[in-house]
Amino acid sequence: MVAEIVSVGTELLLGQIADTNAQTLGKILPEYGIEHKFRQTVGDNVQRLTDALKLAVSRSDIVFTIGGLGPTADDLTREGIAAALGDELVLDEAISAHLKHLFEVRKMQWLDMQNRQAMRPTCATPIENPNGTAPGLLCQKEGKVVIAMPGPKGEFGPMANGPVRDFLLKHAGGEVIHSRLLRICGLGESTVEDKIRPLLDATNPTVAPYAQVGEVHLRVTAKAPNVDLAEAMIEPVEMRIRSVLDDAVYGSGDTTLEKALIDLLVGRKETVAVAESITGGGVGAQLTAVAGSGDAFIGGVITYQPEMKEKLLGVDSGILSDPERGPVDPQVAEQMAQGVRKLCNSTYGVSLTGNAGPAADQGGKPVGLVYLAVAWDGGVEVQEYRWRGQREDIRRRASQFALTLLRSVVLRRIQ
Ligand code: ATP
Ligand code: MG
Repeated sequence: MVAEIVSVGTELLLGQIADTNAQTLGKILPEYGIEHKFRQTVGDNVQRLTDALKLAVSRSDIVFTIGGLGPTADDLTREGIAAALGDELVLDEAISAHLKHLFEVRKMQWLDMQNRQAMRPTCATPIENPNGTAPGLLCQKEGKVVIAMPGPKGEFGPMANGPVRDFLLKHAGGEVIHSRLLRICGLGESTVEDKIRPLLDATNPTVAPYAQVGEVHLRVTAKAPNVDLAEAMIEPVEMRIRSVLDDAVYGSGDTTLEKALIDLLVGRKETVAVAESITGGGVGAQLTAVAGSGDAFIGGVITYQPEMKEKLLGVDSGILSDPERGPVDPQVAEQMAQGVRKLCNSTYGVSLTGNAGPAADQGGKPVGLVYLAVAWDGGVEVQEYRWRGQREDIRRRASQFALTLLRSVVLRRIQ
């Protein structure tokens, strides 16, 4: 079964609100094995809405409209659906009576324009909306289904998760499209793709890569009669991916890199402390966002100004004041990592120093030049990166790569 969402509202086109309802519905459809292939957004204009719906009905089995069901003149979804299906709009006396009752109970003045919400195509049955006035509409004509839902989130959500799910369960053919996310760090998107090339051509399950900041995600998706069977189909594909990518797969599902790292450290009864310059505490924030991180995360310092690097971490002031070198320097990163490890008496010390921009730094250090270091008992590793991008991207990347470096040091010490 192929589905399409048609979101109605000029405010969506103007970027004034984000289409979160379509996002909610987009997550529901695969649970019923429905192939969601198209999405349209159209303004509050009856002709364009009719055109959009005609196109949607011509290529999809089930069409969902979102919004435009209210009583005002710009709420035109009912008209659009009737026109697209070649149907007529009629006043539904039962809906009208229900609306009048609602107005009475709430002591609100009844205006005849409210009856617009009681209009429906002849082929439609109303979908109850306990959280608002306008009902949803289930329209079925010549094998096509159009389901109209209200725009306000508090009305849309319950309708999507209630009556719409019930309808899909009965009519969608009883399959599921189920995905599992595998999370990879330390390898670029092209490298990942190159290594798993043959898997990318498979059809069921499918494997799709997504580049994230500092990591790559692989979504493995299976279509099967139920979730258990889909999981069973995903399992061997995951095994193959893990055997090819090995340690680079740090987790699956909702497991973040920081969560995987905290688990790894806690399992080994090891600890970490951070010395942050470029990220200003971002790495500490990321690690402490993990529940139970206190068993592995000791603490750290934000040493933004060069003096603080010297005072708190014992970084060589000669390097810091050298006009050619300054704080964005591999040896500074090294000494920061060693310094914080000593200060906090932790198994590992992690440091980050660099220039996030927008202007070049002391010593003419270019934007995007970042040094990361991890120190441990008997060793220290420094990495140099030269990234492009906006300040926020560079800072985010620095955090991700520092965590990735720490993870690789920990894993190497296990072997
Ligand atoms: P109403 O009875 O309030 O007029 P409606 O069904 O006619 O409801 P719209 O008028 O299109 O819906 O939208 C009402 C409000 O619902 C919008 O101002 C917006 O806040 C929210 N909304 C509409 N469509 C969406 C969407 N696709 N995603 C998120 N919010 C939406
Ligand atoms: Mg409206």
